[in-house]
Amino acid sequence: MVEELRHILSSSATRKQELQTSEHPSLLHNPSLFEKDYSIKMQCANLTWKKVLGSGSKLSLSRHASLMTRGYASSSTDADLVVIGSGPGGYVAAIKAAQLGLKTVCVEKNDTLGGTCLNVGCIPSKSLLNNSHYFHVAQKEFAQRGIKTGEVSLDLDAMMKSKRDSVSGLTSGIAMLFKNNKVEHIQGFGKITGPNQVTVAKNDGSSETVNTKNILIATGSEVTPFPGIEIDEETVVSSTGALSLKELPKRMVVIGAGVIGVELGSVWSRLGSQVTAVEFLDNVGGMGIDMEIAKATQRALTKQGLKFKLGHKVTGAERNPDGSIKVSVEKNKGGKKEDIECDVLLVCVGRRPYTNGIGLEETGVQKDERNRVVVNERFQSNIPSIYAIGDAVHGPMLAHKAEDEGIITVEGMCGSAVHIDYNCVPSVIYTHPEVAWVGKTEEDLKAEGIPYKVGKFPMAANSRAKTNNDTEGVVKIISHKDTDRLLGCHIVASCAGELINEAALAMEYGAAAEDVARVCHAHPTVSEAFREACLAAYCGKAINFS
Ligand SMILES: Cc1cc2nc3c(=O)[nH]c(=O)nc-3n(C[C@H](O)[C@H](O)[C@H](O)COP(=O)(O)OP(=O)(O)OC[C@H]3O[C@@H](n4cnc5c(N)ncnc54)[C@H](O)[C@@H]3O)c2cc1C
Repeated sequence: MVEELRHILSSSATRKQELQTSEHPSLLHNPSLFEKDYSIKMQCANLTWKKVLGSGSKLSLSRHASLMTRGYASSSTDADLVVIGSGPGGYVAAIKAAQLGLKTVCVEKNDTLGGTCLNVGCIPSKSLLNNSHYFHVAQKEFAQRGIKTGEVSLDLDAMMKSKRDSVSGLTSGIAMLFKNNKVEHIQGFGKITGPNQVTVAKNDGSSETVNTKNILIATGSEVTPFPGIEIDEETVVSSTGALSLKELPKRMVVIGAGVIGVELGSVWSRLGSQVTAVEFLDNVGGMGIDMEIAKATQRALTKQGLKFKLGHKVTGAERNPDGSIKVSVEKNKGGKKEDIECDVLLVCVGRRPYTNGIGLEETGVQKDERNRVVVNERFQSNIPSIYAIGDAVHGPMLAHKAEDEGIITVEGMCGSAVHIDYNCVPSVIYTHPEVAWVGKTEEDLKAEGIPYKVGKFPMAANSRAKTNNDTEGVVKIISHKDTDRLLGCHIVASCAGELINEAALAMEYGAAAEDVARVCHAHPTVSEAFREACLAAYCGKAINFS
């Protein structure tokens, strides 16, 4: 009976695969016919299993079925696509591939799906940013807004629980999406063992080999260590440890005032820590930020209590006998040295691609000097069946960039055109006010010799921002001097991360500043400031500000 069952399952799995990958015209154009055929066989198989196992078996029928299917299929091609990694690049690519009819497997080494972004990146950091902002407002602003409370105090455990709940809700949501879209999830460490093969080492010591037409590397990135400073994730922490501190540090030093450094520095500063950020560059916000906007950001954060040591480098850190940490700092110009004492040291000097140990060297996949997989415009490596996206390849390390690359890469595998304009990929810093930009900075345009005009509108002149008593910031529009085409948009505002998407949309469609200025915007909204800045760029004058 078991042999018969194995035959039913394997033949239907093979047939499904043949049909999906071959040119069987009637079934390809009417997939429901095939699904019906397949599901009848699966039902037969399940009934037979009930006989074999009895109804009280702890192992689910579908699990047995999938094990048998896999057991049979691992000796031959059994997937169209194996995605290694379930971050925003990998899981989105896997779902899209399945929606396009590819038999898709997604391999993830961690216990939960969602990668850096959902587990230790975008989502937990934004949860803490949001709740620490409420805390800050309740503590510092409620009285002047006419709200009386008792003493506002911090329950860090509850705040961390709220963060964990957001993370687990979203990571389990991906598991559900995989199920609904028929993406097979294999938990374990995936290694490329051939141009068309991935071998997964599972936690229980077993391994599973999946033969596949294509492989998509979406293995993401990991924290870049700081030479000479060992991270224990307790008092010397990376961004991961800083998202789960057990108590509020009195003093915190952050190495790096880039996007992640200022976000996490903001969280702990709002909750009551004295935060000093040491930054090698002369500006906050990292590379790619417009200098005027960087200065405005620094001013806003300084007002909130963060201290910055820009143009300084950290030369070392050592633990004092009482457990506190002495951080040695040196000014870039002149070499003046000083020590800063702290209780928690946060190392935030960037991330590096996670591309070691996954079989690239053995398979001959080419990497660049920064350990990123080298890909062409279709995200294909030098081995045509192996693709790569997200933090593991060139370009900004951003979740939405990884997602977009995931979608267009699998569309490309199915024959579509592949296009992404990195100039239209927005960046956001989720401090308060938020900081967001897309396109060129003034510095870029000067360097490239492109003539431009600037239109600005301060949030202090925006009716909604004034009503909300949230007037810190500005919208800055840069458009071409001759054609008026939008070249860049830079915003400091409470909801800059939302506003910037309007700029990205306008730029993707090649809009001129005048085009945006002529679009009716709802009143009173903060987005009217964007429209007014476009008006100022195209005709030199805004309405509500002079
Ligand atoms: C604190 C912090 C805050 C951030 N905030 C933002 C933000 O607000 N907005 C934004 O756009 N970006 C943000 N980022 C960056 C963002 O998280 C990354 O750019 C994004 O997650 C990259 O997506 P990815 O799919 O390329 O890789 P990742 O999200 O890194 O996912 C890769 C996955 O692959 C898995 N994996 C790796 N190797 C293997 C293997 N051999 N086998 C099986 N699985 C494997 C990993 O376990 C991981 O789950 C933040 C990052 C951090 C650290």
